[in-house]
Amino acid sequence: MTVAAENWDAIVVGGGFFGCNLALMLADSSMRVLVVERDADLMQRASYANQARVHGGYHYPRSILTGLRSHANFSRFMREYAVAVDRDFTHFYAIARKFSNVTALQFARFCQEIGAPFRKAPSAVSRLFDRDLVEEVFEVTEYAFDSVKLKEHLLVRMAGRDIPLRLGTEARRATVGSRGIQVDMSTGSESWSATTRWLFNCTYSRINHLLHKSEVPPIPLRHEYTEIALIEAPEELRKRAVTVMCGPFFSTMPFPPAGTHSLSHVRYTPHYDWEERSGGGAPMMLDREAPGRASHCLNMIMDAKRFLPCLERARQVDSLWEVKTVLPQCEVNDARPILFKAHDEVPGLVSVLGGKFDNIYDLPRELQMLFSRAEG
Ligand SMILES: Cc1cc2nc3c(=O)[nH]c(=O)nc-3n(C[C@H](O)[C@H](O)[C@H](O)COP(=O)(O)OP(=O)(O)OC[C@H]3O[C@@H](n4cnc5c(N)ncnc54)[C@H](O)[C@@H]3O)c2cc1C
Repeated sequence: MTVAAENWDAIVVGGGFFGCNLALMLADSSMRVLVVERDADLMQRASYANQARVHGGYHYPRSILTGLRSHANFSRFMREYAVAVDRDFTHFYAIARKFSNVTALQFARFCQEIGAPFRKAPSAVSRLFDRDLVEEVFEVTEYAFDSVKLKEHLLVRMAGRDIPLRLGTEARRATVGSRGIQVDMSTGSESWSATTRWLFNCTYSRINHLLHKSEVPPIPLRHEYTEIALIEAPEELRKRAVTVMCGPFFSTMPFPPAGTHSLSHVRYTPHYDWEERSGGGAPMMLDREAPGRASHCLNMIMDAKRFLPCLERARQVDSLWEVKTVLPQCEVNDARPILFKAHDEVPGLVSVLGGKFDNIYDLPRELQMLFSRAEG
């Protein structure tokens, strides 16, 4: 069945953290905005299946700009989303002696440069580590968000701004129409279309999928099929998080929506990766339920317990599977800039990829530049 076209000032495709925040910003500019999401609910994909770290900047000693921006955004995020942040634990960053890209001294200098608070961990904590493998342990200020609470908070705000949501709805194609962009959608077996002046492609790992269907050249992207293990942490880590820096190490921290800890490992979290390049044909689409994949949780624990022996008593509860998408150049220095790309082939079509949650604070500047360019 085909339903008649609707007309909007802006349509946001993708109801993840970025799509929802962008929709709120557009509504603030008095635009009539529609959000379409192919899942049955908001924030079910990367915005749920991630490590939940409210970045304070510490994670990026190899990219001072990312560290600075992250640290600046941290307090803003903590203010805006206080209701959805778990602060009830202490986070420790441990610096590995071997194979680390930074020394303890460099890490401390980096924290000073970006203005992020840190101090040496109390001995009750540093004792938990194998000091032959760990040079120093620092206590830092970094928390975890609860994506279920974030979703609830966003739903209330979006309802307050009268932003309609179409759940279970997939945007299939965007073309240049006589009244702006025509977006072909499907909701179950129903096909329908809408027209809009602006179309924001906030589909994260599926960005190139929508572009391909719309005959727009793809954006070079790198994808990893990732596993974050959910574990029952040993007693020593119950109100604690640990991140070992800076290289092929691991991190374990509370994962609030499940009431567990997450465990991720630079070597074992990615199961495989692939790149999409211009001229590379149809993008490989992978949903998070890759059938029959064996968990890497045991490998993560085996390696991590060398640094933090109490992890031997960690027990796997579950795993989160998701496609992680980053810009190819991010591999070099770990930077996580936002991608905000207008596509000239379909004027008004813009793709948005946020490498981490706090990048939402880059959106207002990007929108302002977009709209002022459009006004000419
Ligand atoms: C393993 C992993 C760990 C991470 N850890 C952290 C961390 O600790 N801290 C941090 O800040 N960031 C982290 N990130 C990054 C963070 O998760 C992402 O930056 C963020 O979730 C991106 O939000 P999004 O809204 O763009 O994507 P998503 O949440 O994936 O939303 C995209 C939405 O688009 C929908 N969609 C796709 N195609 C269509 C279509 N055609 N029509 C309609 N809907 C469509 C999808 O169903 C989905 O809901 C991590 C990511 C991963 C994968």
